[in-house]
Amino acid sequence: MDFQLQEKKAVDKDLTYFLSDYRERLSELFNERNNEDELVTTRGLPPYVLRKVLECNPLSAFIPSEYGGRGCVTKEAMSMLQTTSYQSLPLSLMMGINGALFLQPVANYGEEDVKKRVFGKFIKEKNMGGLMITEPDYGSDALRMQTGFKLDEDSDQYSIQGLKHWAGLTGWADFWLMTARGLDDKGELTRDIGFFIHESSNGGIEVEEYYENMGLLMLPYGRNKVDIEVPSSYRLQPKSTGVKMMLDILHRSRLQFGGMGTGFLQRMLDEGIDHCKERFVGGKSLFEYDQVKERLANLQSYFTVSSAVNYFTSSNVPLSEDTSRMDLAANSIKSVITDYMHEASQSLMQLVGAKGYKMSHIAGRSMVDSRPFQIFEGSNDILYQQITESVLKKMKRAKQTNLYEFLKDYSLTEYAAEHFKESTNFDVNYKMAQRNLVKLGRALGRIVTMNMTIQLGQSGFNSDMVSNSIKSLKGEINGLISAYSSNESPDIIDNYEDSSSWLDLVKA
Ligand SMILES: Cc1cc2nc3c(=O)[nH]c(=O)nc-3n(C[C@H](O)[C@H](O)[C@H](O)COP(=O)(O)OP(=O)(O)OC[C@H]3O[C@@H](n4cnc5c(N)ncnc54)[C@H](O)[C@@H]3O)c2cc1C
Repeated sequence: MDFQLQEKKAVDKDLTYFLSDYRERLSELFNERNNEDELVTTRGLPPYVLRKVLECNPLSAFIPSEYGGRGCVTKEAMSMLQTTSYQSLPLSLMMGINGALFLQPVANYGEEDVKKRVFGKFIKEKNMGGLMITEPDYGSDALRMQTGFKLDEDSDQYSIQGLKHWAGLTGWADFWLMTARGLDDKGELTRDIGFFIHESSNGGIEVEEYYENMGLLMLPYGRNKVDIEVPSSYRLQPKSTGVKMMLDILHRSRLQFGGMGTGFLQRMLDEGIDHCKERFVGGKSLFEYDQVKERLANLQSYFTVSSAVNYFTSSNVPLSEDTSRMDLAANSIKSVITDYMHEASQSLMQLVGAKGYKMSHIAGRSMVDSRPFQIFEGSNDILYQQITESVLKKMKRAKQTNLYEFLKDYSLTEYAAEHFKESTNFDVNYKMAQRNLVKLGRALGRIVTMNMTIQLGQSGFNSDMVSNSIKSLKGEINGLISAYSSNESPDIIDNYEDSSSWLDLVKA
């Protein structure tokens, strides 16, 4: 065996041990030592549970080896997230926030001395970090945020003031990545965005209100008044502009959503199969009903697609890769996987019936916990629009108007395109209405993830799972394309109350 292969085998074995230890610890904490129902229906997490989780060093998967971590290997980070989300989606989000929204940005853009200190605190003291972008008046249009920064040359510190809300780990994180726009000499906000590492113990972030978040109860959210001083060396250093750095950070995070998605989707699938095999209705097991089989097949397909997305990101996106231009892959992965996560929870809820509606049941809880994934880190409606816009831009550049002709030659769709040879054989209207951009984006995002699924199959993944998934995807995508092709564009009627009472019309 050559040395490189030997080394790879040793690393793989080490990852297997790391994951199995971690899996055992989670299972012990959630299923044996605690009643899972209690853990997930009360806010926060008992400190000893968090301590025991962090003892396994899951966050070391996001820390470079020269600072004591496992080396920021994408497949390690994603498989750790998957292991976590099989047991608990909120806990996986907690790990995802720390990793993709704090540690990876610091690893890529932080100064050496700062990295040494911050990573040291994560490894030795089990610290945690989050990201503050969203403001009460600026969510989807985050680039217009009002939080501003200014450098005081004498103290060599940035002063940053503003109002931020909905940041995961509010009041809890030891470190924050704070985003703000520069203030010019006249006190006007400039266009570029800066990222600053703030240590909570330095003070200046006041939680004005804790929110009563409907789900994800493990995570605290709220509104924060920000008035902080940050040493200049604690500013992340973009390779070009701050906006490009922000795109790289957000795209990398979106590309890794499959980590949180796959474990969760597998859990929905396993819960669905177990329930349907055990539950008897009308004298036979639910598992034998055709409609039930369709739901379970779709759950299985979601798990396969999410596995494909993990395979894609792990194979193509090392930490060193600049992802600022990977919008099409990142936006497709995030929007499709999060749609599937919520759809899977809805399906499980339907299959479980009334008992799934109990606060403590995994079906209802998953429905509420998975819903905000479709909203944060880019609202899916907007991401779908951007997917279509990105394809249209590439088509224009290639002077191509026929959608099929473009898809069959494009690297992210080349294998899937042949399945839609007829349905996508039309000229696109470059100036389509926003709702059509969104509708087409839903189909295109799924064609991109189907392409990844075909590639997963080519690499040796269970061929029955892949071919079933392709059948599910084809049906879904053709439905979406026909919704896009139908020219009905209902408008919203202002003052709809006029003549809109059916009761007034009843003669009898
Ligand atoms: C559970 C949870 C966790 C979060 N975690 C974090 C975090 O860790 N850090 C952080 O900074 N933020 C976080 N957020 C905030 C999140 O990123 C924002 O909620 C999101 O960006 C949307 O902003 P908004 O809520 O202000 O909605 P808005 O910007 O008001 O948008 C609401 C809706 O309006 C529609 N819409 C908006 N713009 C357009 C458009 N151009 N075209 C068509 N439709 C449009 C979309 O349907 C959109 O979903 C979190 C939010 C939640 C719920």
